[in-house]
Amino acid sequence: MTAPDAPALSVVVPAYNEQEVLPEFHRRLAAAMEGIGLAWEVVYVNDGSRDTTLEVMTGLQRQDPRAAVLNLSRNFGKEIALTAGLDHARATEAVIVIDADLQDPPEVIPALVAAWREGFDIAYAQRNTREGETWLKKATAAGFYRVMQRLGGKVKLPQDTGDFRLMSRRAVDALLKLREQHRFMKGLFAWIGFPATAVRYDRAPRAAGETKWNYWKLWNFSLEGITSFTVAPLKVATYVGFAIAVLASIYLFTLVVRTLLFGNPVAGYPSLLAVTLFLGGVQMMMLGIIGEYLGRIFNETKQRPLYFAERYLPSRQAS
Ligand code: UDP
Ligand code: MG
Repeated sequence: MTAPDAPALSVVVPAYNEQEVLPEFHRRLAAAMEGIGLAWEVVYVNDGSRDTTLEVMTGLQRQDPRAAVLNLSRNFGKEIALTAGLDHARATEAVIVIDADLQDPPEVIPALVAAWREGFDIAYAQRNTREGETWLKKATAAGFYRVMQRLGGKVKLPQDTGDFRLMSRRAVDALLKLREQHRFMKGLFAWIGFPATAVRYDRAPRAAGETKWNYWKLWNFSLEGITSFTVAPLKVATYVGFAIAVLASIYLFTLVVRTLLFGNPVAGYPSLLAVTLFLGGVQMMMLGIIGEYLGRIFNETKQRPLYFAERYLPSRQAS
């Protein structure tokens, strides 16, 4: 699919309402790419922004032949915008994925490229600090990584790593073979394997605009991560059921012995209610867990395309 004049590197940038930062982003990106000495393009993906992001992008594309614009038909979310960008990256050698909001400093890209030149297929940028983020967000993020680490089995998620990374062409091709609707990118990146290494950097606070995350979204993101990464929660019902059955038989045994020894002083309505409610709750919860998986199976079986592109303006020269 790659044209003869295809650049060596593509930079994929998903953006949703990023009109304020994009010009500054492009300036810093171009400056950072300068010293690498390879032909490059940047693929800006407009993920159904409600501001003038698209106009800013097409403006950049007009001025700079290295810029490409992919406009999605609506907002699909970062994961899918990213995948759409990867689908349209023309690079022959490697692709870099970076956020538009300058939280992932473009100045780190040369270090990623250096790691790739050493022979790694994947060079992921790993955060040293989380400046400008609340302790609650840091704590929940840390907890999330712990849980995933325990549940992940053979696939391990690198800690404090976002989507900011470089992937060799063959790693990108592998990733693009995974067309599931529920795209937990961290999990997909880890699943494909290939030699990978970390490049450490300091994550800056957002340059402008607002984060699209809130705790409800983060909770759903974690759910997405766990359910698309592992089926371990489905086993919880088995173990909880087993534990309750064991406890119940012990209790039953003591009841029989006590009745034989001391007679039956009755009572027990409150404990009966408590046990019934508890078990009802546990059963509902387990149904919910099964439902989470079932819903995802439902979405996957529809086999819909991941996105629709409204427009694609390719980059016009290799360097
Ligand atoms: N983004 C996107 N579609 C969305 C939400 C976000 O393409 O529906 C882009 C956004 O423009 C940014 C990147 O994904 O370039 C990361 O988003 P954000 O900064 O809100 O996330 P955070 O940095 O807080 O994880
Ligand atoms: Mg951000």
